[in-house]
Amino acid sequence: MILTPKTVTCRCGHSFTAERDRSWCEKCCEAVYYNEKDKNRHRYNSMYVVGVILAVITFLTYVFMELIAVPLLSA
Ligand SMILES: [Zn+2]
Repeated sequence: MILTPKTVTCRCGHSFTAERDRSWCEKCCEAVYYNEKDKNRHRYNSMYVVGVILAVITFLTYVFMELIAVPLLSA
């Protein structure tokens, strides 16, 4: 999605013109967001993804323990 060009400033202090909701700083390669609130949205999205991955890993560990480790230990 193309937005109205707007000057954004990266955390490192580098300013440049952004036309997309997320751009990359040329100086430090950090993501710079067009709207400040998008930054939080992206952060929540990645936290959600990490949470799902952790839940899957926990579930797989539980399944592994129940189906493989417990029968082996009690055999
Ligand atoms: Zn930067």
